[in-house]
Amino acid sequence: MSEGPQVKLRTQWLARHLQGRRADRILTERQDLSATAEQLAGQTVARCYCKGKHIFIEIGPDWVLHNHLLMRGKWRMAKGPFLFIPTQYWLVIESGSSAICNINGQVLEFITHQQAEDITKRLGPDILADPYPREEVIAKLKVQRKPISEAILDQAVIAGIGNVAKSEALFLAEIDPRVPANTVTNDALVRLSDAMRQVMQESLEQGGRWIHRVYQRHREPCHTCSTRIAVIRMPPSKRSTYFCPKCQRKH
Ligand SMILES: [Zn+2]
Repeated sequence: MSEGPQVKLRTQWLARHLQGRRADRILTERQDLSATAEQLAGQTVARCYCKGKHIFIEIGPDWVLHNHLLMRGKWRMAKGPFLFIPTQYWLVIESGSSAICNINGQVLEFITHQQAEDITKRLGPDILADPYPREEVIAKLKVQRKPISEAILDQAVIAGIGNVAKSEALFLAEIDPRVPANTVTNDALVRLSDAMRQVMQESLEQGGRWIHRVYQRHREPCHTCSTRIAVIRMPPSKRSTYFCPKCQRKH
């Protein structure tokens, strides 16, 4: 599963292998992609970038390949040229003797630059962006009525946070995941924003792996106070949040 750090690492990898290179052929069996893919043969990949969990690959002057990996999507390198492409390969970009392959999508579409801009505009500030958008993150969270654990998972509020970073950051910031975001004090929101940035940067430095302080540690002792780690599922996402009922009370 890909959250902000994994997507950022994958985008850096795509940029290393594609940016400034000619896409000799773009192969796909998908009907919705094939006409544009064919038209783009011989064009140069201008730029690969991401915001939150969304990846954008600019090919030629007019088109952007938009990708969201969700749970199953992957990018891999293979040797080209391909004689045929395996069924789980949604798209292959051949450049020289190498081929950059998208496997299992899961969101993969050709869009215009305007559409790409519309997507990034709808997303909240990227917690990994430089400069660090702390004030913007706090301003966005302050007005949310939903539980703080749900607010930080909402990509329109903050871009890049997934289920692991959510639990870990709330634990580091010592905030109860159930409290409505708009009742959390400013000091606690500053702590939370910094904690989100910290766990995401930690994961980036670890090559995309996470340090599990609470995540998937249900009933195991808290590293700080030995209380058993609890798990809850808050609406609307109902995704599991792991937390320490004793440590996470400062909001
Ligand atoms: Zn504890």
